[in-house]
Amino acid sequence: MIDLKKLTIKKARKALDSKEFSVVDLAQAYLKEIEKKNKELNAYLEVFDDVLEQAKVSDARIAKGESLPLLGIPLAIKDNILITGRHASSASKMLENYVASYDATVIEKLKKAGAVFLGRTNMDEFALGSSTENSAFGVTKNPYDISRVAGGTSGGSASSVSSDMALVALGSDTGGSIRFPSAFCGVVGLKPTYGGVSRNGLMAATSSFDVIGPIAKNIEDAEILFDVIKGNDVLDSTTITEKTYTKSSVKKVIGVPWNLINQEGLDPKIKENFEKVVKDFEGLGYKIKDIKLPNCLALYYIINFAEVSTNLARFDGVRYGLHKNGKNLLEDYLLSKGAGFGKETRRRILLGTYVLSAGYYDAYYGKAQRARVALRKDFVKIFSDIDLILTPTSPIPPWKVGEKSDPLSMYLADIFTVTANIVGLPAISLPSGFMDVEGLPAGQAGKKLPLGIQFMASHGGEDLLFEIGKKFEAIKGI
Ligand code: GLN
Repeated sequence: MIDLKKLTIKKARKALDSKEFSVVDLAQAYLKEIEKKNKELNAYLEVFDDVLEQAKVSDARIAKGESLPLLGIPLAIKDNILITGRHASSASKMLENYVASYDATVIEKLKKAGAVFLGRTNMDEFALGSSTENSAFGVTKNPYDISRVAGGTSGGSASSVSSDMALVALGSDTGGSIRFPSAFCGVVGLKPTYGGVSRNGLMAATSSFDVIGPIAKNIEDAEILFDVIKGNDVLDSTTITEKTYTKSSVKKVIGVPWNLINQEGLDPKIKENFEKVVKDFEGLGYKIKDIKLPNCLALYYIINFAEVSTNLARFDGVRYGLHKNGKNLLEDYLLSKGAGFGKETRRRILLGTYVLSAGYYDAYYGKAQRARVALRKDFVKIFSDIDLILTPTSPIPPWKVGEKSDPLSMYLADIFTVTANIVGLPAISLPSGFMDVEGLPAGQAGKKLPLGIQFMASHGGEDLLFEIGKKFEAIKGI
């Protein structure tokens, strides 16, 4: 029996190389877990039917003496990342029948590395949302409490790692979609620097914010996966290799935007947990500096709507997904898009078209872009005397499925995560403990929900995030 709960990439690597178990054994263990849990959690939209064949190929490579960090490691892939010959739908009816004709760059790298793809995971349609409730294929549940959401938009990836249905997973982050579900599911999620990982083969949501990144059980696993997928790519002209961090430049100062944290709306238990974390870091010898950060939600959503409306214009229902026949081509489009896109997607297309329309462009989109440039400059200044910024990942704990019916209250939950995407900074969410759920019936008393904190670093500062993350894991005893 392989103890999947305690398994890490390093442990799996050692066991595979020493023939303690084979890749086939390992893949079978995950398939068994998926069989047991996926019906309830709905983390996977599809489990691939050739997992064991893939495992055999990796076993053969190990038998020949190859030993790469990810050789034979089973992972889950978010449904907006293309794998040749496999369905990729972005959890939308509009792309229900789409089969990818090429590999995303990250997939090409993972194939070379010998990773085993278990399946594709559920998400909010086109990565728009914060809870995976906007999927056209049902909500993903939180493994800690199945009456609650797993967070989003990479909810399937986070839920699968958290419930041992995958060792690690890939997600994508436009405004928090890796970090947010990671916090809700008690796992680690890294949003790399914008351009740090190629977007070639990632379905575009907000092209100037999107980035692919790892979701894992601990920092080391996230780091191993990131090291394999990162780097320049001729197929994505926005990729960069930037490293700003050197050991000698570290000041041991952490900035905390108390102005945002002390606002109304932050759950008292999250605040309590956060204040404890701040003390932990003071105990480790870090200086905490009070910094001011603006609330960037309006700026984020204006740019998000604008780019979403242009990016999604290409999906017309003619070839790949839901199609409705009208009297002419225009009616075909109207009917297909009306029925093929979910409510939130249609809302953003409409609002995006509005903020880009003649007469309003300058008041909304133009102004947001100018504010974005100003914010970038502010951040250069902010990082001149701190190394990292610390916040909770989410202002509220995982909510009940269906509890948030108005879009605005869901947008507010992104307050701490969107800033990193606007500026392009790397950020990580780390599990920071649990909170008790009150008011439960006797049988369920003692149920706990995971909480998360977020660190942001300056561009190219992933190593610093890994370093501080490992220190935090050490004091938490993870
Ligand atoms: N919750 C944010 C949004 O709905 C972020 C989504 C994401 O990162 N893909 O836009």
